[in-house]
Amino acid sequence: MRDRRELLKGLLVTPWWSSALYAQATRGMPPLRIKEIKVLATSPTKRYSWVFVKVITSEPGLYGIGSAANAYLSWSVKAAIEKHLGPFWIGKDPDRIEQLSQASHVRSYWRNGPVINTARAALDMALWDIKGKRANMPVYQLLGGKVREAVPLYAHAGGKTTDSCIENVQKLMEEGYRHVRVQLGGYGGGGFVPSQHSSRPEKSPPGPGFDEDLYVETIANLFKQVRDRLGWNVKLLHDVHSRLTPTAARKLAQRLESVRMFFVEDILPPEHMEHFRQIRPLTTTPMAMGELFTHPLEWRPLITERLIDFIRCRISSIGGITPARKIAALCDQFGVRTAWQEGGENDPVNQLAAYHVDLTIPAFGIQEKNAFPDVVHEVLPGAAEIRGGYLYGNDKPGLGIDINEALVAKYPLADNYRNADWTTIRAIDGSVIRP
Ligand code: MG
Repeated sequence: MRDRRELLKGLLVTPWWSSALYAQATRGMPPLRIKEIKVLATSPTKRYSWVFVKVITSEPGLYGIGSAANAYLSWSVKAAIEKHLGPFWIGKDPDRIEQLSQASHVRSYWRNGPVINTARAALDMALWDIKGKRANMPVYQLLGGKVREAVPLYAHAGGKTTDSCIENVQKLMEEGYRHVRVQLGGYGGGGFVPSQHSSRPEKSPPGPGFDEDLYVETIANLFKQVRDRLGWNVKLLHDVHSRLTPTAARKLAQRLESVRMFFVEDILPPEHMEHFRQIRPLTTTPMAMGELFTHPLEWRPLITERLIDFIRCRISSIGGITPARKIAALCDQFGVRTAWQEGGENDPVNQLAAYHVDLTIPAFGIQEKNAFPDVVHEVLPGAAEIRGGYLYGNDKPGLGIDINEALVAKYPLADNYRNADWTTIRAIDGSVIRP
């Protein structure tokens, strides 16, 4: 009886992982704690509204960097970290990436939204960065090592006319890109009717109105001409950006069959993705989807029912490297490939998080190109580089990137509510459609 009491007493005072066991598991490395969470918010140019975290550990000089960038809710993500999640992370063990990812996921009770996912992604990336630095290895080594030498990118070619589009595709091919996305002007380009056109109603709001039949016709003809003039030596992509009804989506997917696309992106809005079940039997045109996804219930049926060919989630919108690896593993089982969303207002830390995952996963398909001006390379030294259509990291331990706090102070986060202005897209009658 006394032995049992002693044993129970022992269990109460000694954690199940004794310090000796912990030291063995970390091969003699000292236990770490998260000491400080610095939130670094910056707009190095007008285009960017970036929030980063610097997770500082109890080991002098050891810290990790993560991206919490969400251009449309940057101040909300900043506050979520500063006021809600950051204080919870202080004192935790940075080695426990999976455990902290799960705990942060449920911490706001209502989960899977773009604010909470972006905040926990920042911690996740920073913790992988710390683990890599501790192991003196690039993160891709910790994820199983390289299965490819570099990350192939697709580039963006645009133009106001078919001729300028073709010219720009040619230029990118000369730079080494084998995959090129083609847009006639901005998203929805080719489908807009000017504000003064007779088909518009009286008192129509300013700006053009979108007509999906015009769009389908114009885009199908654009790609036919690109193929006719450039041949089959380039893989072609297009982003519909959720602008079509399911009926028009079926028409476009069929019309593009003959030009053998690499993929067509977001031919449907997330709200209508069940219609992929009707598109699938109609055409072999490959489908990419997912940049707006934040919830596993959005990507799971598309992958497990094999309704798409490429998953397009943004790493920071789904919670970071840890959830991205799980999606990639699921894709691998169902013959779907990855094409992480990395263009536009994305940042170099998020790009490197995608890069380290991409190097290690068999289900990789392609990554979106994102090149940065010099000032960004100064604010974030170690940002990946693009050469000959491929993305290259620098093989330093961790993610391989740092942040210059003096320059962050020089370029503070802009008051940026107008970043979202472009999302108000109208149909011919003036009603708002999905952006
Ligand atoms: Mg897109």
